[in-house]
Amino acid sequence: MNVFDSVKQSVTTKQAAEQYGFKPNHSNLICCPFHRDRTPSMKVDERYFCFGCGATGDVIDFVSEVFHLNCTEAGIKLAEDFGIPYEYHGSISKRKMLKKKIYQQTEISEEEKFKKRLVKAIQVCSDYRSMLMELQKRFSPKTINDEWDERFVYVGMKIPYLEYYLDILTFGNQEEQKELLNDKEEEWEKFGRDLKRYMSGNGIGQDATHDITTGCEGIKGCVR
Ligand SMILES: [Zn+2]
Repeated sequence: MNVFDSVKQSVTTKQAAEQYGFKPNHSNLICCPFHRDRTPSMKVDERYFCFGCGATGDVIDFVSEVFHLNCTEAGIKLAEDFGIPYEYHGSISKRKMLKKKIYQQTEISEEEKFKKRLVKAIQVCSDYRSMLMELQKRFSPKTINDEWDERFVYVGMKIPYLEYYLDILTFGNQEEQKELLNDKEEEWEKFGRDLKRYMSGNGIGQDATHDITTGCEGIKGCVR
């Protein structure tokens, strides 16, 4: 079986995306690597499709575009990275040289590492914003006479901060983006873990409320 068929039968675009640092959310969406994507708009499953820029293709196309490889090189990279056996009709030394070329080309430069961090941060902040909005809805007053739940107020206060981060991450200059990433990345990760935990519960009890406040204090502290 040639390398294209071997790879296409064994690896989905979603698996390749995960392997190369894109984290699909619960709807199998990632931030599109081919346009400046503020909210995850690329669907990855067997193939990929971006609702933002229309980019589409199979797993070979995806890896080829991400790493700037031709189709054969992308196929070989996938086969090697996923341990998939494939037929190669050239000499051993030619194959060796090709593999070397692929790995040299895909070695991540500093610039690319930064871009990856940026894409990840945009995705993380977008996810938080969605989660906060959902929590806000959950705790919103149901009638005009209801008192405002303090969680509703608190969560509502956090959304503009995330909007502000997203603006910098999406439209800021590189210096501002680097500064923001260096300052906030770790706190965002912790905040996200907490938020996900609260979201997965059916309801939010007293303890979780306390945790949310603590979690949000983390992000609040880092805003000012
Ligand atoms: Zn796109």
